[in-house]
Amino acid sequence: MYNLDIESIKKQNMDLADKIYIFDTTLRDGEQAPGLALTVDEKIQIAQKIDNIGVDKIEAGFPASSTGEVLACSQIKEVIDATAVGLARTVKNDVDAVLDADLDYMHTFIGTSPLHRDYKLKMDKESIIETAVAGIEYGKDHGLTVEFSAEDATRTERDFLIDVYKAVVDAGVDFINVPDTVGVLTPIITKALVSELKSHINIPISVHFHNDFGLATANTLTAIENGASQAHVTVNGIGERTGNASIEELVVTLKAVYGIDIGIDTTQLYNLSDFVGRITGIKMPINKPIVGENAFAHESGIHVHGILKNSLTYEPISPELVGHSRKIVIGKHTGANSLKSKLEEYNIELTDDQFEKVFNQVKALGDKGKTITDYDLKALAITQISAAKETPIKLLGLGLFFGANVSPTATVKLEIDGVEKEVSATGVGNVDAALNAIRSLISDTMDIELEEYNLEAITGGTDALAEVFVITSDSKNKSIGRATNEDIVMASVEAVLDSINKLLLISRSDE
Ligand code: MN
Repeated sequence: MYNLDIESIKKQNMDLADKIYIFDTTLRDGEQAPGLALTVDEKIQIAQKIDNIGVDKIEAGFPASSTGEVLACSQIKEVIDATAVGLARTVKNDVDAVLDADLDYMHTFIGTSPLHRDYKLKMDKESIIETAVAGIEYGKDHGLTVEFSAEDATRTERDFLIDVYKAVVDAGVDFINVPDTVGVLTPIITKALVSELKSHINIPISVHFHNDFGLATANTLTAIENGASQAHVTVNGIGERTGNASIEELVVTLKAVYGIDIGIDTTQLYNLSDFVGRITGIKMPINKPIVGENAFAHESGIHVHGILKNSLTYEPISPELVGHSRKIVIGKHTGANSLKSKLEEYNIELTDDQFEKVFNQVKALGDKGKTITDYDLKALAITQISAAKETPIKLLGLGLFFGANVSPTATVKLEIDGVEKEVSATGVGNVDAALNAIRSLISDTMDIELEEYNLEAITGGTDALAEVFVITSDSKNKSIGRATNEDIVMASVEAVLDSINKLLLISRSDE
């Protein structure tokens, strides 16, 4: 689709497998992300969502690690269409736990690199091979489909690695997996490694690549280009340390850049990412490829102008392909076109003069380093409109009563949509009493929350001018209000009314 002429590239440089399997390990390697622990119920919910997009295998957990894991694995198997996989070391006890969880597919591993042999396992090369073969034979004897990982394969002596894989193939293993346990591969080394393994091994090759240098997805793609049949991935790329290759990056690159559809429903990827982010508490950075909040967000005037004409000018794929949405952000780089389209989105119509003022305010705020949220933009626009309009709420009168040992009382008289209303209320102080009275008078019209109240004296002395800045909100919008008066209570009342008048105008323009 990007004119990469994939067919001729395939012929010249690629050795694609007939079928590419997606092995999702969000619930195993992903769950091993530091600080993460999921309940059985959470694991089941995630498994179902991953299953819905159409992956081939879901590694449900490590049954030998706890009875909860055995339970989670057996329950996950019941609710998914994908093959449920359990992790096991190549020892009888771990294989038995996989069988206890009633799984049919085991992913078994043993460390093969000098570091793992000498420091972790304290085993020589021969015993590593013997142990691996024994564990695999035990699993095969009990009817399991077996995938074997040479842990830390990429830091294992190449000759020994090939010996290990040859031995496990002879023992009847169904898939061999190549873990880049600490993420040290680069694409060119991946190509050499996978090609060499393919020349010695005649069963499907799987890869499991970590992202320590940000290369997990690139390396996984290279492995696939060179004949790997399966990729281990996780949602959002979560996993040990900096994680694994991410399912969304891999699948969407294959589909959109390579033109290879492996049968995954990409339109659910954004929701899946969001769901896993919320349940695990591991939120994606805004610039995360494919699923980050900024993946389809635009601010610069030139880009937005292009996007509005044809979104492909500045987007490689449409957000719909991954279930995401496009966002036009307003800030210092905003052009007049984006601002107009944003205001249209909110059905806010401004005169040329009003638009000019809002545009200049947006630029001025941007220059001060402020980000302008959608709330801010609406408030700026409504301020311009309300300046030219009758405000729905007018202050007709204000009385205060205060003394020793009694609560301060304020009486407020308002005209709301042409109807006069008056009420008294108490509070902890004069300002509080006045605001309580306003709240009670408008309670039939709207439900407001005072989010922020700031009082500043502009000049010194007891006759100082008080400036009050407030932010009020209803269920949908926020609005700022500002007023200056010699009297603190009057300034507060005027600022609040200023703010809620705007809020009313905003919510009425929404209807
Ligand atoms: Mn791993």
